[in-house]
Amino acid sequence: MRQGTVIRAAGGFFAVSDGDGRGYLCRARGLLKREKASLMVGDRVLFVPPQDDQSGSKTDSTIISSGVGVIEELIPRTNRLSRPLVANVDQLVIVMSLKNPPCDWQLVSRLLILAESEELAAVLCLNKVDLLTREELKDVAGMIEPYPYPVYYTSAVNGDGIESLQEQLVGFCSVFAGPSGVGKSSLLNAIQPGLNLKEGPVSDKIKRGRHTTRQAELLLLDGGGTVVDTPGFSRLDFTGLKPEQLPGLFPEFDSFLGLCAFRNCMHLAEPDCAVQQQVGDTLNAMRYGHYKYFMTELLQQQR
Ligand code: GDP
Ligand code: ZN
Repeated sequence: MRQGTVIRAAGGFFAVSDGDGRGYLCRARGLLKREKASLMVGDRVLFVPPQDDQSGSKTDSTIISSGVGVIEELIPRTNRLSRPLVANVDQLVIVMSLKNPPCDWQLVSRLLILAESEELAAVLCLNKVDLLTREELKDVAGMIEPYPYPVYYTSAVNGDGIESLQEQLVGFCSVFAGPSGVGKSSLLNAIQPGLNLKEGPVSDKIKRGRHTTRQAELLLLDGGGTVVDTPGFSRLDFTGLKPEQLPGLFPEFDSFLGLCAFRNCMHLAEPDCAVQQQVGDTLNAMRYGHYKYFMTELLQQQR
């Protein structure tokens, strides 16, 4: 038996990649099939390759083996996202452009909170740096200093920062997120020409409806690692999140939580608040602004 990852699923068939660039068409062992929808894209599995084609297809994710292998076992998942439907995601790559369209910093924080609540690592990719002057770039860097997540400055047009971003993807399963038009597809194409991040128009997504959540596909990167073909976190509401959970989703607050005068401090306007005292110093003022905004939103939802 071999270990592999399900990179595509359709009509009871699964495309399994063995991690060495070989793909196999497989069916699931009866037991796995009966548990409804038990196998999904991203699942790590143990499988027996087809008898007639032990070598598998060498053409990346395209399966051309004539035989059909059998998936025998599902290795327990580390996590499972529902939109897009995919298992074992390691990191969220939040892509924003700095111009055309301008960066929505509050949306960045919102996506970071969603990543934190799913226990995903997150990085920020600021794209289209070719459209900014040095001064403008310096201003951006100053505004987000200090920032509690890795930041990549990239240009899909002139190649700036592409190599560093590429290194960040090696060995991980990444899902990209960000508004349309910021350059997600262009970045992936710059990283690996021929990859095609699907990005349907909004109306398309709505038409697909609630009941037909399309299964995602994993794109295999030549350098190792995978990318989910569908952008993540298209739903941005904080459903199920309680106000008292919010401070824990701002990792830069960690070292100050518990140091406030009030044990149940919400870090809004309370006196002797260790968080508020650090704003503009070790805590980024813009990020704290987002914290206050989201906290207000969560408190209102509770009423
Ligand atoms: P997506 O909707 O996020 O996948 O964005 P696309 O990759 O489709 O890019 C949207 C538009 O921005 C296209 O016209 C791209 O050519 C352009 N674009 C993408 N990356 C860059 C960049 O780094 N610099 C500039 N100037 N334009 C870019
Ligand atoms: Zn406080």
